[in-house]
Amino acid sequence: MRRIAIVGAGQAGLQLGLGLLAQGYHVTLTTNRTGEQVRTGKVMSSQCMFNTALQTERDLGLNFWEQHCPAVEGISLTVPHPQQPGERLFSWGSRLERYAQSVDQRLKMPAWMDEFVKRGGELVIADVGIAELETLTQSHDLVLLAAGKGEVVNQFEKDPQRSAFSQPQRALALTYVKGMTPASPFSRVAFNLIPGVGEYFVFPALTTSGPCEIMVFEGIPGGPMDCWHDIKTPEAHLAKSLEIVRQYLPWEAERCQHLTLTDDNGFLSGRFTPMVRKPVLTLPSGRTVLGMADALVVNDPITGQGANNAAKCSKVYLQAILDQGARTFDAQWMAQTFEQYWSYARHVVQWTNTLLTPPPEYLLGLLGAASQSQPLAAAIVNGFDDPRTFAPWWFDAEQCQVFIDKNTRHVAA
Ligand SMILES: Cc1cc2nc3c(=O)[nH]c(=O)nc-3n(C[C@H](O)[C@H](O)[C@H](O)COP(=O)(O)OP(=O)(O)OC[C@H]3O[C@@H](n4cnc5c(N)ncnc54)[C@H](O)[C@@H]3O)c2cc1C
Repeated sequence: MRRIAIVGAGQAGLQLGLGLLAQGYHVTLTTNRTGEQVRTGKVMSSQCMFNTALQTERDLGLNFWEQHCPAVEGISLTVPHPQQPGERLFSWGSRLERYAQSVDQRLKMPAWMDEFVKRGGELVIADVGIAELETLTQSHDLVLLAAGKGEVVNQFEKDPQRSAFSQPQRALALTYVKGMTPASPFSRVAFNLIPGVGEYFVFPALTTSGPCEIMVFEGIPGGPMDCWHDIKTPEAHLAKSLEIVRQYLPWEAERCQHLTLTDDNGFLSGRFTPMVRKPVLTLPSGRTVLGMADALVVNDPITGQGANNAAKCSKVYLQAILDQGARTFDAQWMAQTFEQYWSYARHVVQWTNTLLTPPPEYLLGLLGAASQSQPLAAAIVNGFDDPRTFAPWWFDAEQCQVFIDKNTRHVAA
């Protein structure tokens, strides 16, 4: 039986580990927090996942919360009027073809860890560094590092050609709440883009105590929404969240009359630099380790793609491991396997990065035009499930105009 070691019990590591167990592999999963520590710890993500990624979980029989988790039926975009405070410049929305869902990773990961053990996996709780990777490479045919944003992933060299930034592009904050008035006529990611300030989006999710809404703040560094540094208590975090919403987005504040935090760990703030790393780590012994998901391609959460990418990466890697049969997992195979994933992920990176820098005129035109054209709105909204569909029109002024014309004519016809 082939022996595979995975480091990190997040979306990528657990999903791949469970997939390999189903195919009869011996899998050792080493992670640095117990299920109980994850369950009772701080929130980590807003983890909204779209249909294609959700399907990869269904395929492995891991969609334990599908019936209980609120559906996210669509996405809307609102831009406040720059000259008239309290007014909207434009606002539009569309339903997704299939719903999205967000299951708090504090709920999902401990349950998947239990399932991993139940299905015959070997779960080890330990902090992994170079010495531990050396040991794992001696006892296993393949070692994968799926340690997310853990310190150890810095062992992978940054890929300067594929990395657009050297600094964090947003000050991030999450606020998990109960008591918000639902969006109507369909549940949605309500995305608000406040020029010069940042973005706020909010959507329904399932947390440890049942349904909730997750408020996500993306503040431009140095701007008024980069304001979390001195906020230390859950109460102060909720108060700051409400202050921002009331100041910039009165239509969102209306939904927030009776908010409470889901729990004292239902908030988070921080920042990180979006980055792409080289996929293969050569240890001092000369043996190699392959990285996956956030360990290699970490995006700003502005487009909500990281957990989706992790699920899709684990699907690509699972197939590549199966296809390799009894052959060696050498550095060449590792590099090729990552390139297969990158052929998808590069589209996500390219699209996500366009939203982190001030948008060019033609993109503002596109977003405005979507308020007049339902097909245009639907194309943008459904692109979140597969960002490859944004090429070429999202990235090129001429192509964008062609796309707008085509979709506007369609409406008029
Ligand atoms: C504020 C915010 C909002 C987000 N919102 C969304 C969203 O709406 N939609 C979306 O798709 N994505 C979102 N993401 C991104 C998403 O959460 C991540 O991309 C995804 O969880 C990455 O999965 P992963 O398995 O690669 O890593 P992780 O989920 O981070 O898992 C890493 C694992 O490795 C373990 N680990 C770390 N270091 C070590 C070590 N040295 N030894 C052993 N174990 C180790 C950790 O404990 C953890 O179990 C968001 C992220 C943030 C920060």
